[in-house]
Amino acid sequence: MRRAGEIAGHWSVVVAGGRIAGTTTAWALAPYAREILVVDASRATSFWPQQATWDRSGNLLWADLGLLGAVLDCGAPRTRGHSFRADGEVTEHDYPQQDELSFRMTMPREVLDPALLRAAQSRGNVTVARPARVRDVIGRDGRVSGVVVRHDGADHLLSCDLLVLADGRLSRNADRVGAVPYRVVPSPWVAMLAYYADLPLPADRGYFSLTNDSVAICTPCGERQWCLSTDMHQAMIDASGRHPAREFERIIAADPLLGLAVLAGRRVTSIGGAGKLRMLRRPMSGPGWCLVGDAGYHLDPVTARGTRSALIAARLLRDHVATAGGIDRLAGDDAALDGLTELRDAALEADWAEAEQICAPVPAAT
Ligand SMILES: Cc1cc2nc3c(=O)[nH]c(=O)nc-3n(C[C@H](O)[C@H](O)[C@H](O)COP(=O)(O)OP(=O)(O)OC[C@H]3O[C@@H](n4cnc5c(N)ncnc54)[C@H](O)[C@@H]3O)c2cc1C
Repeated sequence: MRRAGEIAGHWSVVVAGGRIAGTTTAWALAPYAREILVVDASRATSFWPQQATWDRSGNLLWADLGLLGAVLDCGAPRTRGHSFRADGEVTEHDYPQQDELSFRMTMPREVLDPALLRAAQSRGNVTVARPARVRDVIGRDGRVSGVVVRHDGADHLLSCDLLVLADGRLSRNADRVGAVPYRVVPSPWVAMLAYYADLPLPADRGYFSLTNDSVAICTPCGERQWCLSTDMHQAMIDASGRHPAREFERIIAADPLLGLAVLAGRRVTSIGGAGKLRMLRRPMSGPGWCLVGDAGYHLDPVTARGTRSALIAARLLRDHVATAGGIDRLAGDDAALDGLTELRDAALEADWAEAEQICAPVPAAT
């Protein structure tokens, strides 16, 4: 038994990154591994201007992974439809009701990620080091055999049977294991968001509002709480010369519904987001390593499919390890994780195609 805080030595699995993809993977692999270490560089108090949204297909994935209860216990409202404004017209859309999981859900990462981390830690064999950073990858004969982790002001050398990289779209460790992107699509969209409380808006319906070069979205995401987000074209920001946060405020203020709503409620976080993003696909696995979440498959947030993509990769890895009979059975076999890339890409093909189409450059007028 390790003493608290003792991380050096051997682990069945080391997971770099402890948010949606990393925590879900740790939870899912726990029954098939001896000891798992999750290493996460962020602090518990970090604000993440990134949403988590999913629809019925996401609910089915949470259920399949055994995490639906933990996710629903977070208390986010279930939305069963949305209003859609375009060209001054508003139309109502109700989601098909196939079963009790036929709803959409949105949650702040500050709520969802800690709940997933607690679930992973509730497995007796998952340990979390945070804040801590995987700062180098150790290899032998082309196979990953361990990592160097910076924790508590010191570097620790760890060996592992499997390294899972869940360290996000900017993963440097993915480069270190040689997971070279084989498809990259630059995105022209800038995604911004902020959370608000006490808006005079429905708690069970979303709202989408489309203009020529932006979309504003409002989704209920907690008890009297809403997430307001915008996707705006980079060209629009370049033309205005304004900071994206100011453009966000301008778009929200100009919207007939949201402009009035925010005057009645209050903003409870800063406005944040990301731009100049690149969609990318990297190989999902290699000898001794596997990539889950944005690290291996980054979809532009414009289609809000990042959560689904992370859950699909985690499930594929779990199923593969379970079928093999556990991590111990894979140890030392360089080809043990072959085939995951193809399975992941097939499962996410429609999501990729939709996002890539929305990111495609607008043809120049002739
Ligand atoms: C503005 C915006 C809006 C979005 N909206 C939606 C939405 O509506 N719906 C949706 O499904 N998706 C949305 N997304 C996408 C979604 O947020 C991502 O797909 C999701 O966060 C990916 O999760 P992840 O666990 O792979 O990576 P991340 O959430 O990026 O987490 C990576 C973690 O790894 C840690 N880390 C980094 N380097 C290291 C290291 N070397 N060692 C240890 N830890 C490390 C980081 O600190 C972080 O905690 C949005 C994204 C943005 C930017």
